[in-house]
Parts: sequence; C-alpha cells; structure tokens
Amino acid sequence: MLTLALSKGRIFDDTLPLLASAGIRVADDPDTSRKLILSTNRPDVRIIIVRASDVPTYVLYGAADVGVAGSDVLLEHDARHGSAGMYRPIDLNIARCRMMVAVHEGFDYEAAVRSGARIRVATKYVDTAREHFAAKGMHVDLIKLYGSMELAPLVGLADAIVDVVSTGGTLKANRLIAVEEVCPVSARLVVNQAALKVKRTEVQALLDAFELAVKAVP
Ligand code: AMP
Repeated sequence: MLTLALSKGRIFDDTLPLLASAGIRVADDPDTSRKLILSTNRPDVRIIIVRASDVPTYVLYGAADVGVAGSDVLLEHDARHGSAGMYRPIDLNIARCRMMVAVHEGFDYEAAVRSGARIRVATKYVDTAREHFAAKGMHVDLIKLYGSMELAPLVGLADAIVDVVSTGGTLKANRLIAVEEVCPVSARLVVNQAALKVKRTEVQALLDAFELAVKAVP
C-alpha cells in the first residue's frame, strides 16, 4: 500500500491532474466528504488528508510514504527540525505564490529599515522570518499567529506580516502593501527515505509519472 499525504484546497486540486497522469483517480472529494482517508481506483494507493503544515510530519514518520508540501511549509519545517529523513525530489511547480513582507499602507517600511527601528512582525512562518530579517541585519520582535495574518497590522498587533501572497487580492482588500519578497513558493513532492528503499518500485513509478507530467506543462 502506498499512502500519499495531501492538504485540502490548492495542493489537492493541483495534484489531481498529476495523479491522473500516473493513472490514479481519487474516489472522494475532500470538500464534500468528511473522510480523512480517501481511496483511489488503485487498491494499492490511498490518499490521506492532513493540514498543510502537518504533511512533512506524516512523511517524516513514515505514516505517509509520499506527500505534497509547499516550500513555505518545508522551509519552516527544516528551520525547526532539520532536513533529514525526507527526500524532496521534484518541484511540482503547483500552488505557486510568493512569501512577502507586507505592511499597512500608512507604515513607512523603508524608513523603519533605514533608521534601524525595531519592528513587530506577525507570522506563522516564525523561523523563516527570523532568518530573513537577521540576514538584513534588522531587529524584529516576532509574534506567532496561526491564521489571518493580514489582520495583525490593522488592529495594532504588529507593524508588518510575513505571509504568502498569490493574487494580492487579500492584501489589497485590507489596505496592506507588499514591500519585500522573502522567497518564491511552490509545492514539492516529498518522499520518506525508508519508503524509497522498501517500496522502491511503487514510489519510483509515481515519481517518474509526476516528473513527466510536470515537464509536459509549458
Ligand atoms: P491572495 O489574495 O490570492 O493573494 O491569497 C492570499 C491568501 O491565500 C493568504 O491568506 C494566503 O495565506 C493564502 N495563499 C495564497 N497562496 C497560497 C498558497 N500557494 N499556499 C497556501 N496559501 C496560500
């Protein structure tokens, strides 16, 4: 049995065509079903639905053989736990966005940087943000949030946020502006190291099919 960990939303939706190219069709829709283990047309392949930030954990411990995780999630995981135990063989080029520093439109970020002011930054990417600002020589107080980072500068919790931005619509709707890129983000296939040895044939077949499908996208 091959177990693949996916998160609902963008990653699930964008992974479906890649699975189809490997001959795998998912039997349930996670948006309407409450099942956490989804079967597929292949009796030897199942999908588990986990929170995006939990994908590396399931794969690292071997509860899932493979998974699809955003590079934002992987960066944060690695900063905390190191990169051992998991291969990341393919950039799937899906769920693409950018991790950005954003501030309220009335906040002069450049002036704060120039003057060496200590700023407060709210984010769920605490370790990635710490490394980003340390590399710039900036002093920041980091505030960990688990969601809706965009709210923090609006109610005085923070001067800035570090969050992923796709269309920019959410920032705009909340009168925030992106002032700096931290890194580009896309989802990668991650593989448990032991599974690659023990289930070599099945895992390699999936990797090959995904690789071909990714290359076929212009
Ligand atoms: P947007 O308004 O299109 O810029 O989307 C921004 C919101 O969607 C933010 O709250 C992000 O946390 C979330 N988001 C956008 N792109 C992604 C992605 N590729 N992966 C995870 N979350 C995302």
